[in-house]
Amino acid sequence: METIRAQLAPRLEGRTLARVEILDPRLTRPYDLFEVAEELEGDRVVSLERRGKYLVVRLESGLGLLVHLRMTGGFHWRPVTHERAVLELDDGSRLVYRDVRRFGTWLVLDGVDVEPYLTAKNGPEPLGPRFIARWLGQQLARRRAPLKAVLLDQRVVAGLGNIYADEALWRARLSPLEPANEVTAEEARRLVRAIRAALRAGIERQGSTLSDYRTPDGASGSMQEEFRVYGQDGEPCPRCRATITKIRVGGRGTWFCPRCQAWP
Ligand SMILES: [Zn+2]
Repeated sequence: METIRAQLAPRLEGRTLARVEILDPRLTRPYDLFEVAEELEGDRVVSLERRGKYLVVRLESGLGLLVHLRMTGGFHWRPVTHERAVLELDDGSRLVYRDVRRFGTWLVLDGVDVEPYLTAKNGPEPLGPRFIARWLGQQLARRRAPLKAVLLDQRVVAGLGNIYADEALWRARLSPLEPANEVTAEEARRLVRAIRAALRAGIERQGSTLSDYRTPDGASGSMQEEFRVYGQDGEPCPRCRATITKIRVGGRGTWFCPRCQAWP
């Protein structure tokens, strides 16, 4: 997401949306696609931000366009198949929104409504000051789903991917299958520390910036070898030497050590 933002920002910021064409009613529903296009047309892009899994296009009028790419959404500077929207800029360039599976969303909000909306949709950033054990404990206490599945909920913690959820649970010695509401306050503290440590280790490994920790699941090469459990089924646990096991939790591939992350 941060990579996408960084690629788009230099060409989008400061430009006027000379013509806006929205081609798929699913993109803006329940709002009418023509009305949304009309709201955007003629406005100037002040800045492009990333918030959790949203791209936020801040406009001169005060409006904000919130884009969620979901599974297959993406932006292109050339004609592509499955075009769902087209932004023609005042420099003559043409930015195309492509979405094969059509789960992506475009939502236009008044400036004052952007922050409350994002706060409700996105939990705190895992390396930010709002992500504390008390917050995490409260969120987990309300849910009976397996701990791993709750950690992947963006409202609990923003942008923690599948890899780092597994790595953090291993570090915290917690089972991905434990019902979230059975996690104790002490375990929540351990988990917050483990999430931060796993992310920081990932950042260090990549020698990259803080914003790049959202590694796609298909991480490759030397990086993958450095994961403690992710992708390591059949390998010995680096802590207790038991064999790392792969299961599915909430539809996602999940790797854990059945001995030191045992539950119950
Ligand atoms: Zn182990």
